[in-house]
Amino acid sequence: MNLSFKQRQALDGLLHTNGYTDYKWIDPHKIIVSQWVRMKCMFGCGEYGRGATCPPNTPSVADCRQFFSEYSDAVILHFEGKMDKPEDRHAWSGKINAKLVKLEREIFLAGYEKAFLLFMDSCCFCKDCTGSRETCDQPRMARPAPEAMAVDVFSTVRQFDFNINVRTEYDQKMDRYSFLMVA
Ligand code: SF4
Repeated sequence: MNLSFKQRQALDGLLHTNGYTDYKWIDPHKIIVSQWVRMKCMFGCGEYGRGATCPPNTPSVADCRQFFSEYSDAVILHFEGKMDKPEDRHAWSGKINAKLVKLEREIFLAGYEKAFLLFMDSCCFCKDCTGSRETCDQPRMARPAPEAMAVDVFSTVRQFDFNINVRTEYDQKMDRYSFLMVA
């Protein structure tokens, strides 16, 4: 952890002003990056190759590990959702992600040039994702989800006493997590 108490306090103020209270500061070296997460993207996920911010459009697992190792301070933000219909999730995630990327920009403008945000779900900005970085509809806004960066979200967030469980029905409560890499 490199940020001073005062710097953290100022950033807490920024987070609160934007309406975020359900979050924790973490040591990014505790973010668990695993090959099995990438395997789950490659085999079993319908978004593989179809999401412009999903594998194979994200770095290799080794490069993801390197990326996280370059940070000393990060925030995990928690979002809870319960959908009436599975198709409602797209709009819910897209709205939250659009707000999150604005937060990343505010932190950048506050002097944190390394600020980088990982969405709480797939991008979800467009009804149909173009599937490639080159043709992405909003390349300046779209970011990958932690899972797309090979993060074992389950094991990582549990270290910080966040709640997360495998859902067996779509209408069960979802716990989603965004990672804000700060410095
Ligand atoms: S902005 Fe649109 S095209 Fe780009 S990653 Fe998001 S959903 Fe896909």
